[in-house]
Parts: sequence; C-alpha cells; structure tokens
Amino acid sequence: MNEEVITLAHGSGGRKMQELISGLIIRHLSNPVLDKMEDAGVIVSKEGKTAVTTDSFVVSPLFFSGGDIGRLSVCGTINDLAAMGAVPKCITTGFIIEEGLPVGSLKRILVSIRKACDEAGVFTAAGDTKVVEKGKADGIFINTSGIGEIKKGAPALSCSNARPGDAVILSGTLGDHEIAILKERKGLSFKSAIKSDCAPLNKMILPLMKPSFAMHAMRDPTRGGLAAVLNEIAAASGVNIAIDESRIRLRAAVRAACGVFGFDPLYLANEGKMAIICAADRAAAAVKVLRRHRYGKNAAIIGRVAGNSGSPKVYLRTKNSGERIVFMPEGEQLPRIC
Ligand code: MG
Repeated sequence: MNEEVITLAHGSGGRKMQELISGLIIRHLSNPVLDKMEDAGVIVSKEGKTAVTTDSFVVSPLFFSGGDIGRLSVCGTINDLAAMGAVPKCITTGFIIEEGLPVGSLKRILVSIRKACDEAGVFTAAGDTKVVEKGKADGIFINTSGIGEIKKGAPALSCSNARPGDAVILSGTLGDHEIAILKERKGLSFKSAIKSDCAPLNKMILPLMKPSFAMHAMRDPTRGGLAAVLNEIAAASGVNIAIDESRIRLRAAVRAACGVFGFDPLYLANEGKMAIICAADRAAAAVKVLRRHRYGKNAAIIGRVAGNSGSPKVYLRTKNSGERIVFMPEGEQLPRIC
C-alpha cells in the first residue's frame, strides 16, 4: 500500500491545501482562534484585540522585477494583519539559509526588509538564523510573523461576515506578481513591462477602518488568486458572490501571458491587492479612499454578494454576457511564487 505523501498541490492555495489544513493541521492544533482560519488569529484580552499571523517565503528566484524575497516576506505578513483590520506593530524574521549563499545576496535582502518595514511603519522585534547544508534549501527561505493591534471601534472583519447585498471591491489589477515571477523564471519578454505588485497595504486600508465604511471582510488574494479568496469568503459566509469580468483590470503583459499560457487571471497570485466586502451603499466612498493611495489607483467595485440556498458559489459574468462558475483552484499553476 502506498503511503500518502505531500505534493506541490498541497501548497497551491487551492482545494488540496484547504484539505491539508482543515483535514490534518487544524485537526491536531485546533483551538477557537485558529479554527476561524482567518488571515490572522485574533486574541481578545481586557486590554483589547491583538492580531497574530505567520507566513513562510520560498519564492524562486530570490530577486525579481518589483521585489525580492525580503520585501515579499514583510508585505505578505503586513497584508494578512491589514486584512483583519489590525494596525501592524512589529514582525519577527526567521532565516533558513543554504550554505553557499553569497553574503551580498543576504545584504540585499536585509536592505529590502528594512525598507519595507520602514514603509509599513513596523520594526523587527526578534529574529532567528539557521544555516543548512548545500542542497538542503534553495538559497534562503524566510519565515515572518507579525503582531498588530485592532483599535477600539474598528470593524470586526471576518471571512464569515459577507452579507447578501454587500459590494465586492478589488483594490487593483490582477496577476502582476505571478506573471512577473513567471517572466523571470522563463526568461520571457513582453512588449509591455510587468513587475510584481508586492507592497504593504496597511496604510491604504487604515482609513477604511472607520465604522462609517461598514467593512465586513477582507482577504489578500495571494496564492490561488481572487478565485480562492472569494470561494473562501462565500463558503465561510454561506453566500454566493457574483463578479463582473468587465470590471476586473489587467495589465497588458498579464493579458498577453494569460493568452499564451492559458492562465485564468482569477487564479493568479497577487502580493499587493486586497479583496474587500462592504455594505453596498458605502462601496463608492471606499473606492474613492482606496484610489487616493498609490497602491489603490485601480480600485473598483467588481461584484456583489447574493443570498444562497445550497452550496455557496462564485459566479463570473463574462464580457459576452455569459455566466460561469469560478471554482476553488484545484492544483498548482506555478509552484514557489511566494
Ligand atoms: Mg492572506
């Protein structure tokens, strides 16, 4: 009998990964905080609410157009805190370094981490360094954890808070990060430039934390893309979500790459975008606030939350006014993109 083993699909951000997390990891580590499966765990005490998150980064190559593993490791953690409405306070950084990594590369990564921390307004409160033998890692892997404070009066964001009638906002174009990595890895050239959207979003999100914006849920569409995130929100909230293809913006290089490689942009990874669910009558004002920030220039309302009877689904109204179901991603489009 073959023993079941971990496959790359278990790290894809799709259905296989969900099965691994809920079927095995949560089963062993279960507790009321972790079981909610939000972007960050929220710990409530007499003093207030603290958000805690952790993320590991194994991207290949280490340096790419628009960022590197250092910037990515800060932004991924900051954005998971921002998605819970938390103000990031500090991060921790753990390095697993492969013997032979040039010190110059580590320096470049550290400079990048520092710059991203300064931009996000956080500091590195603790760190760890391990070195493994040549061949046991690929250059460097980084784990970051983050702690954030959820201010009094901030909305209690949760993937289970989407309500029928809510609007779906996307803070910008889709797929920039994954196509930038693909381009680097395959040595491709596109007519128009493409770089990773890798960015800390906390300062863009913060103004939306006023109760008047009636925010309900946020999640950053990283691995598995917008398709995974909207399916997670639909399932956790017991609602349907319908999005409009004509309202989703793509850069020319992303559109071209999708044409050539047959990728669906809804499944491409982003590292500087937020999917936001809020009360419909506040959505236009929220988009206005997002567009004022340099990372939210292309923000738009892209869809709506609808009631559901039966199993929650995500629908896409296509440009030729057809409709199709957007399924949870199954396998892997491209491994090690973050
Ligand atoms: Mg996330």
